[in-house]
Amino acid sequence: MKPTDMNVFEKLESEVRSYCRSFPTVFSKAIGSKMWDESGKEYIDFFAGAGALNYGHNDPIMKSKLVDYILDDGITHSLDMASTAKGQFLETFNETILKPRNLNYKIMFPGPTGTNTVESALKLARKATGRTDIISFTNGFHGMTIGALSVTGNSFKRKGAGIPLHNVVTMPYDSFVHDKLDTLEYLERFLEDRGSGVAIPAAMILETVQGEGGINAASYEWLQRIERICKRWGILLIIDDVQAGVGRTGTFFSFEKAGITPDIVCISKSIGGYGLPLALTLIQPELDIWAPGEHNGTFRGNNHAFVTATAALSYWENPKFEASISKKSEKTKAFLEKLIADYPEIKGHFRGRGLMVGVCSEVEGFASKVAAEAFERGLIMETSGPEDEVFKLFPALTIEDELLEKGFSIIEESVKAVVG
Ligand code: PMP
Repeated sequence: MKPTDMNVFEKLESEVRSYCRSFPTVFSKAIGSKMWDESGKEYIDFFAGAGALNYGHNDPIMKSKLVDYILDDGITHSLDMASTAKGQFLETFNETILKPRNLNYKIMFPGPTGTNTVESALKLARKATGRTDIISFTNGFHGMTIGALSVTGNSFKRKGAGIPLHNVVTMPYDSFVHDKLDTLEYLERFLEDRGSGVAIPAAMILETVQGEGGINAASYEWLQRIERICKRWGILLIIDDVQAGVGRTGTFFSFEKAGITPDIVCISKSIGGYGLPLALTLIQPELDIWAPGEHNGTFRGNNHAFVTATAALSYWENPKFEASISKKSEKTKAFLEKLIADYPEIKGHFRGRGLMVGVCSEVEGFASKVAAEAFERGLIMETSGPEDEVFKLFPALTIEDELLEKGFSIIEESVKAVVG
């Protein structure tokens, strides 16, 4: 086959394209945590489809279930009709994920993407409370539609396009607060003082670890305080687990260890398991006040995604799976902490939780240079944060130890090259 001309993308695809600029080659094949471009060059994947490939590429069990389903003429598109594949997914998700965690949520399919689940959560929160305001947080990322963008604390993506804040208050996120400025106490004072003019909001929306905003991990204590404030004022707590969920921080839901129970949970990216688009909005049963068809869309539950999503949940039936993530996470943290200590030129510090981690460098442009050097050496790794100040390690949860360590060596070589 004739190799694809890279100019095709430049000529035909919009200027908005991004990852093909950071990783300038034409990819054609991938297995597990390895990817290959058309020239046959091999790459280790520390990017995992920005969190959509927590189980790696082309997982063999998911692939064979999907191929069998297709060969058997299983239904592909059926809007939100009842289907065998959807029924199996609902039951398996309830039995494998919700019940063992004592969680009781109704499951809504809001559309194929993370943004769709966020939109449905914001709309439902307003409908359920009869209020309009939403509190979101600095550097939070929730999606690209007007509603989701208005709660996204990224001025490049939001203000540049003239997107107004729709009754949104953006509050400082935990990592920026430390103990110098207690903004949650400040918020409570406003809420208590009914003469303050601050309306009681419908909801707070946040990530427990900010994926796009710089791998900022909120402390469990801060999350517990948020939950207490929400309960006290009848504010709905929306946890956006689109990126931090599905095992990324070490547990299926990122909020489990904090011991909080959100009113609404947004899930997408890796829930489809195979990189196929699927999103869920998990709703406390008493909040499930939707009228039939009140929030709909054409692509609300792709049956192929249900087949792979159900197969993916079998990882969670194995009690050793979480322990294996935890081991890889400890190894990664130890590597990064040593790297930061060995190379003071990075002026860096560790950020993150589980396998959602990174190094924040105070040196302008440092993280981007490391990611570019790593790409040259065969490692796919992206940057995060408002100034791209963090290089972000996001390997598949299933990555083999050998590849993880090979990736570490490439990162160290890349840092050496940047330091000079
Ligand atoms: N929320 C979070 C936390 C995300 O990281 C993203 C995507 N990066 C979204 C929402 C939007 O998801 P999607 O791109 O699938 O619409």
